Amino acid sequence: MKEYKTDCLIIGGGPAGVSAALQLKKRGVDFILVEKKAIGGLVRLARKITNSPLIYGKTGIEVANIMRNALIKSGIEPVFDKITNVEKSGEYNAFGENSYKVKSIIIATGTKPKKLVDNNYRNVFYGYDKIITNKEIKSVGVIGQGEIAVDQALSLHDKGFDVKMYFKNTLPNINFELLRELKKSKIKIINDAEFISIEENTNFTTYSYKKSNIIYKNNFDALLIAVGRIKQMIKLEDMDTNGIQTTDNITIAGMNYISLACNSGINAAEGIYKYLGG
Ligand SMILES: Cc1cc2nc3c(=O)[nH]c(=O)nc-3n(C[C@H](O)[C@H](O)[C@H](O)COP(=O)(O)OP(=O)(O)OC[C@H]3O[C@@H](n4cnc5c(N)ncnc54)[C@H](O)[C@@H]3O)c2cc1C
Repeated sequence: MKEYKTDCLIIGGGPAGVSAALQLKKRGVDFILVEKKAIGGLVRLARKITNSPLIYGKTGIEVANIMRNALIKSGIEPVFDKITNVEKSGEYNAFGENSYKVKSIIIATGTKPKKLVDNNYRNVFYGYDKIITNKEIKSVGVIGQGEIAVDQALSLHDKGFDVKMYFKNTLPNINFELLRELKKSKIKIINDAEFISIEENTNFTTYSYKKSNIIYKNNFDALLIAVGRIKQMIKLEDMDTNGIQTTDNITIAGMNYISLACNSGINAAEGIYKYLGG
């Protein structure tokens, strides 16, 4: 266990945290960037960027590499650790495997998936990355109609999975290019499918839905749920949060934009710069 002491701790190495780090570097603020998994965050899962003009057509991994290279070029070395707890006694103290004594914190921990069901099912997943490594899975039902759902369904389809999507409404909430790719693909689509239940036995995971007052049951090897995401936060027990900035995961019309996350990282860094007397 290492004990770090610095002016700012940035928690999260996704687009928002990396942007905050690059901005603080420019401002000459001493900081540590902590990431629990891999630099790039959620965008690592993206099959192809279709909505951000400057990085259009790149894969999520390519975008994550751009972020990693930007850190290297600026001489920023992230620390890999998961922050589990933040306390305040005078300065802020954050804890993971290491401890961090800091004057300020940027929380850029992104989002976590909304759950559709509470139970722990063996073959119900919230990210396609868990499915592609499982050799027993051939057919997947994807529940969700946003860009993250469609992007992941296309990733599975590219890799040869038999994919069926369930939309709550008639039209998915996605940009034109994704819609075009979806229509071109062999992904089967069920519109206006109202969720009823999920059941699992040793052979199948069954998705039940209602359409035009008829209940249908479809069997799959696995289900991928992508029905939205909610903010993921570090618990801040009653404490003075003047020295803490949180990045926002803003969406426009329900769509996710890396550029908005980057912008909120820069704003958070500017807030910290001012807080530290800059
Ligand atoms: C499949 C898919 C496709 C997408 N396609 C596009 C697209 O085409 N165009 C587009 O603009 N956007 C796309 N997005 C959305 C984009 O990825 C997000 O908007 C963006 O990543 C949000 O950035 P963020 O930094 O706020 O959060 P995140 O990317 O979620 O990053 C948060 C980081 O914090 C880390 N973290 C969390 N908790 C802790 C902790 N306690 N300690 C340490 N580290 C922690 C996480 O590991 C993660 O790396 C897509 C997302 C997905 C999943």
